[in-house]
Amino acid sequence: MPEARVWILNGPDTLRKLLQLRAMQRPPSVPEFFIMGRVRMRMGFNWKPAFITRKLVVGEGDERQRVAYAACPKCGGLLTRGDDEPLPAFLAPIELNTTRRACPACGERLWSLVYRIGQAKPQADMLREALTQIPTIGDKTAHRLVTAFGEELLTGMLEDNVFEFINLMDTDGDLFFNDRQARRMERVMASMEFSFGQGGYQPTEFIKRQLPQGYFGLLVVDEGHEYKNEGSAQGQAMGVLARKCKKTLLLTGTLMGSYADDLFYLLWRLNPRAMIEDGFGYSARSSLGPAAMQFMREHGVLKDIYKGPRAPPTARPGAGTSPIAPPRARVSGPRGSCATWCPARCS
Ligand SMILES: [Zn+2]
Repeated sequence: MPEARVWILNGPDTLRKLLQLRAMQRPPSVPEFFIMGRVRMRMGFNWKPAFITRKLVVGEGDERQRVAYAACPKCGGLLTRGDDEPLPAFLAPIELNTTRRACPACGERLWSLVYRIGQAKPQADMLREALTQIPTIGDKTAHRLVTAFGEELLTGMLEDNVFEFINLMDTDGDLFFNDRQARRMERVMASMEFSFGQGGYQPTEFIKRQLPQGYFGLLVVDEGHEYKNEGSAQGQAMGVLARKCKKTLLLTGTLMGSYADDLFYLLWRLNPRAMIEDGFGYSARSSLGPAAMQFMREHGVLKDIYKGPRAPPTARPGAGTSPIAPPRARVSGPRGSCATWCPARCS
């Protein structure tokens, strides 16, 4: 594209570039592209839900089955959804992801800190570790690289542009890696991402606070399905960016793990307003659980179990098989998927 301008918001100089962006007074006269890696994008959002899973036997007789519920990691008390029903373990990552909650029984916090990438170790160690993950580079080569080029240059290259790294030249202008090495490295490094935690700030946080809504035109998110449910970090960061963009395009080859609630969470991140307009908002007790359930009911298949007097055996074709049913069976349908709690396997 002629005259297009590309901003790589991924390396140690990201803050400088963001400040430069904020200082610009006029809209650009050329097309602009902004690139941000996944790791960089989520830095700084540093908590995730914490709970344990308890399996309880529900139902009676042939209809007995074990169902996994979320519980407090300290007192073991069952956690509840907004409607006071026990919270099924598979819903807990969504339900507990919205706000930092505490156990109503013992006060234990239901979230834990996720160490920010790069805080745990000195940079030299991280760099050596990163280098030795790369094919054809062992301890010796890593040492030679650091001696020849210095830590700062190497970390910058790995974060910013791995191809620059692969094509490193020594002072005589000779390529550091031979063609065979370069080919092997290229294949693997295309999908590697490095972050060394420089600068304790968060680019998405800066964008959220300093740039106006709709600042960017189009957000393109690759591997979109990875943003649905991975703790809080990545999804929140993507939600922040989506709100600063007029349109969002999510690319994925695997839209959903065949459950309708996979989609629910993604849609919430992307366009909460539309979800609320469709009736999938927070409950009166600021919980997303009931909305996620409702979404599954409308766009997937959700089966309810009713406890009651036993039906005559002839009415249940699956009777007599294993009493333990998976909490959700994977069934794909044209509109979505299935979550089943049905002990009689009546489908
Ligand atoms: Zn507790």
